[in-house]
Amino acid sequence: MSNAIRRRILPAIVFAVFFVVTCAGLSFGAPAQGMRLYVLLNGTMTIDKGYLTAMKDVGKPITIPIPAFLIVHPKGLVLFDTGMNPDHMGEALKTAELPVQSEDQKLPNQLKKLGYSVSDIRYVVLSHMHVDHAGGMNLFPKATFVVQKDELKAAWWPEPFQRFAYVLPDYEGTRNFNFMQLDSDWDLFGDGTIRIIRTIGHSQGHQSAVVKLPKTGTLILTGDAAFMDDNLKGVVPGIVWSPEKAMESIERIKWEKERSGGAIWFSHDPDFFKTLRLVPEYYE
Ligand SMILES: [Zn+2]
Repeated sequence: MSNAIRRRILPAIVFAVFFVVTCAGLSFGAPAQGMRLYVLLNGTMTIDKGYLTAMKDVGKPITIPIPAFLIVHPKGLVLFDTGMNPDHMGEALKTAELPVQSEDQKLPNQLKKLGYSVSDIRYVVLSHMHVDHAGGMNLFPKATFVVQKDELKAAWWPEPFQRFAYVLPDYEGTRNFNFMQLDSDWDLFGDGTIRIIRTIGHSQGHQSAVVKLPKTGTLILTGDAAFMDDNLKGVVPGIVWSPEKAMESIERIKWEKERSGGAIWFSHDPDFFKTLRLVPEYYE
């Protein structure tokens, strides 16, 4: 290489190397090393499938998982949803939904298996505050709850037709807990690894989480924005506050999947749930 060429090419190479290194260091949304996601089974309910799929399989009983998800992030532990507390449900709800929860499935015992206690949780993200998602709120007085503000309001004074799904004892003791009240999307740690997205429709202030793991890639924890695959195929969810908003949110979830190449994780699809690895196994 002649000196003249070298003079011309070297600065370009130096610039290119600098550019690549800088971009790698700053790349937004790069997975955080050491992140893990655990699937916690908190119990089951047996309900009418029509709750999940309007006008389809109505009257058919279905036993659904009640999950919660623990995300281990370098900046702290994040719990997505808190499952159910059958002791808080009145007899009518227990008779309608047949909750089953073993001692082993209670959240403190699930966490204990991993060497954690309830006080180790930094953030509790609630998809919404229905009976099968807010049941364990009382267990986490030290955590910061991440909830859409209109969900909090709806839970405290639900529309009459949604009242059966909210159980006041789940959260009446939580008024002085620490709440991050959202009214839009939120990037929990500011690094793109856990994005909360507003997916209202099932309830007034519903939200889902888009989690980016180092090896597994992107997982979209739908909460109840999509109960099961039927809903992605156009079957309107059975329990909804607004069918129009619910279907818009399902479209949003599909776009999140398309953009990330990730997977959609349903809340209450028994067949899908069978494919998941449960505590103490994990996704990384
Ligand atoms: Zn649910």
